[in-house]
Amino acid sequence: MRDLSAGPRVLLKRLRELMAEPLEPQERLDRIVRQIAQNMVAEVCSVYVLRSDSVLELYATEGLNKTAVHLAQLKMGQGLVGTIAASARPLNLSDAQAHPAFTYLPETGEEIYHSFLGVPILRTGRALGVLVVQNKAMRNYREDEVEALETTAMVLAEMVATGELKKITKPGLELDLSRPVSIEGNSYGEGIGLGYVVLHEPRIVVTNLLNEDTEHELQRLAEALGSLRISIDDMLSRRDVSMEGEHRAVLETYRMFAHDRGWVRKLEEAIRNGLTAEAAVERVQSETKARMIRLTDPYLRERMHDFDDLANRLLRQLSGYGAKLSAADFPSDAIIVARAMGAAELLDYPRENVRGLVLEEGAVTSHVVIVARAMGIPVVGQAAGAVALAENRDAIIVDGDDAKVHLRPVADLQRSYEEKVRFRARRQAQFRALKDVEPLTKDGKRITLQMNAGLLVDLPHLNEAGAEGIGLFRTELQFMIASTMPKAEEQEAFYRNVLKQTGSKPVTFRTLDIGGDKVVPYFRAAEEENPALGWRAIRLSLDRPGLLRTQFRAMLRAAAGAEFKLMLPMVTEVAELKVARELLQKEIERQSKLGEQLPRKLQFGAMLEVPALLWQLDELMAEVDFVSVGSNDLFQFAMAVDRGNARVSDRFDSLGRPFLRMLRDIVRAGERNDTPVTLCGEMASKPLSAMALLGIGFRSVSMASTAVGPVKAMLLALDADKLAEVLNAALDDAKSETSIRQLLVDFAAANGIPV
Ligand code: PEP
Ligand code: MG
Repeated sequence: MRDLSAGPRVLLKRLRELMAEPLEPQERLDRIVRQIAQNMVAEVCSVYVLRSDSVLELYATEGLNKTAVHLAQLKMGQGLVGTIAASARPLNLSDAQAHPAFTYLPETGEEIYHSFLGVPILRTGRALGVLVVQNKAMRNYREDEVEALETTAMVLAEMVATGELKKITKPGLELDLSRPVSIEGNSYGEGIGLGYVVLHEPRIVVTNLLNEDTEHELQRLAEALGSLRISIDDMLSRRDVSMEGEHRAVLETYRMFAHDRGWVRKLEEAIRNGLTAEAAVERVQSETKARMIRLTDPYLRERMHDFDDLANRLLRQLSGYGAKLSAADFPSDAIIVARAMGAAELLDYPRENVRGLVLEEGAVTSHVVIVARAMGIPVVGQAAGAVALAENRDAIIVDGDDAKVHLRPVADLQRSYEEKVRFRARRQAQFRALKDVEPLTKDGKRITLQMNAGLLVDLPHLNEAGAEGIGLFRTELQFMIASTMPKAEEQEAFYRNVLKQTGSKPVTFRTLDIGGDKVVPYFRAAEEENPALGWRAIRLSLDRPGLLRTQFRAMLRAAAGAEFKLMLPMVTEVAELKVARELLQKEIERQSKLGEQLPRKLQFGAMLEVPALLWQLDELMAEVDFVSVGSNDLFQFAMAVDRGNARVSDRFDSLGRPFLRMLRDIVRAGERNDTPVTLCGEMASKPLSAMALLGIGFRSVSMASTAVGPVKAMLLALDADKLAEVLNAALDDAKSETSIRQLLVDFAAANGIPV
């Protein structure tokens, strides 16, 4: 074989010309393989393309029997070609037939060829096919020849990706690129979203593959690497990157990689083989990705992800832009697909067009997930491989109820989801029709239905859902999505904005509830063994009185002249409330001394989330204007089950005797003390458990905005006294073993109550 140093350049140039010519796809492929064979002095050159049924089909050949084209096929993992596709790695063999994976395909007539070099046709880490050259003589292909063939395969990847080969694909079959894929993840936000993929990290499409001037491209690469390194150093020296923690760790790794000789050498080699700097980065990135998909070690996978991110940054440096979809191209029903993203980035998208979010990573507590939930869009996280498998504008379904993502769904699946969505929409319309209906039970009990919120994006739901106010405003969310501690003025402006948007409807602000699973990155406390029982909420606020006073001040000023309610989370002893109230009093006095207007009316409340308060109910109620039960935490502490641990969180039933009796005691203490009692945990969001709450005497609840309609539909059909009678009797019957949940379900069914 002749020296190839000039070979790849000449070949790539020829291929570029072939790609530009107005040819039919088969003709173009045939000429491409002929060209490669000639250039590489190979007797055979063949292209196999991966179909959606995991079969690699021979699409073109120079040297093998032409009659085998579109007939010869191998399963993924079968034979040498199948092995290359499955492993996404090249095979370089001097005696192919001696390889254990060799499978003889008689129709091809390949038995006379001994040496074999096959490379995967890769795009964003996925094997779309295999490109092979063969020779009669037994020989080992040189490293630079392998490189050259891999580079050539990029051109073919483009051809497959553009969909050009569809025309020559047998009817009824699809290529792998358009294969429907279902991914199972975790549900982080309920609901169903149908739409089209928008990749969050713009995938820069490198169209200019071939370089005209190697030295110039090497120079461009060196410059881009230089600026990349500087930008990483800049990020590392920024003050808001704390001295330790994962942010710094990631950046440190990036820095290490950006100086990695092996990586840089590979990039330079690809340029010397004739690629532009961008194409070189893409090629090396594609290989890294292919390896990443197969890695099972989570640590190594994470490191490969870092390389991938770094390559994206480098591509952006080189191309000078981050090809975000322009507003005109942004689909009206977009499903954002990302590996991970910041909360602010999600808010940057046109809100009315975003129908769902798919993350390869994420957790229920990640900020972007909190924001997505506030926006009311379905979210599926931990969706492995979603980014690599999706292409911009692919059809996609996010099923947040079932924790699934369906990419390029088949028509039947699409239709059944469309039906589901229509059904939901009809129900939503029925609920919306109730929005101005007074929440009176059948026996005339007036129930207060409020909603929970925490971000400005929540607020439009207030009127849409017909909630009477905000029963729980989680102020920590503003802190959780910020990168630095919100200043006093920022807090004030935020609360002012909330009150402005809610108008005459009341808002109950809860002071900071951080700690536990609510992490604020810039407020790092020492590592705790048991964070749920640790330094959090009111405990932290009382130890940092400056923080609490700042928050009180911001609230008082924002609510000047208006009515407002505030409450403290995670109270354990009444004494804590007294201290908090003194701090509030100091702020009130300060405001009046300064001659500033005070709120017209202020109510001071406590959340009941710690069981110890159950034995201080009368003292508690003497101290506060109202009590709000945080059933999520109360249940966690009462039953000793971590609310974030899926293994135990559903082990006990919140509709069981112990918990309902506990809640009933609280309601009775409220009646005894004439103190309003409400409940703002998740229990209020499910019609069946909300019904139980009304049965034990609650007359006010606060819930997710989406639950207001369904809960109202339930109560309009409920005779609360009739339920109270049955439910109280069952709760008081120490001997009974009937399940309370079953009793509630039966009651609802017998009385035609929608739950
Ligand atoms: C609760 O604990 O029930 C509650 C409403 O507060 P959070 O969910 O914010 O802890
Ligand atoms: Mg709580």
